[in-house]
Amino acid sequence: MGDFVQPLIFIICGIVLLCFGYYLFFSTYSPFYQYLPWVKKNASKKKPRDIQKCPVCSSVVFKGDVKTIVFPGSEGSVDRLMHIKGCYSCLENDLPRKCPVCKANMSLDDFLIARMFERQFQKNHIHVLGCNHCRKTGAQSKPEA
Ligand SMILES: [Zn+2]
Ligand SMILES: [Zn+2]
Repeated sequence: MGDFVQPLIFIICGIVLLCFGYYLFFSTYSPFYQYLPWVKKNASKKKPRDIQKCPVCSSVVFKGDVKTIVFPGSEGSVDRLMHIKGCYSCLENDLPRKCPVCKANMSLDDFLIARMFERQFQKNHIHVLGCNHCRKTGAQSKPEA
């Protein structure tokens, strides 16, 4: 009898180890699943690009498509000054460019002056103060490289 029991135990152990190994390395329930190098990350899981409204022409554009210049903030302050030139829609196409504060038409050289509040765990908040005609501040400081 003993001749049969020993190989049987080995086989059962082998099956258990195989299942455990499968669970660990291939199963979606594996605690390491997202770190496994052979797991193809689903492309559709990629975060969609944030969209935002261009403050100059109100077109809906992808985040990053609005041209801005951000100035270094002073020590300890939570907000930084920024200039918003506009997006590709209003800079390259002939969309009407308007200041949201004074409603004046803006030329291609005009820009909006805004304060950017940097927040660690949330999206940065941008508060538009006005255009270079209705709000003349910060024009003398040098932009950040
Ligand atoms: Zn625009
Ligand atoms: Zn204005």
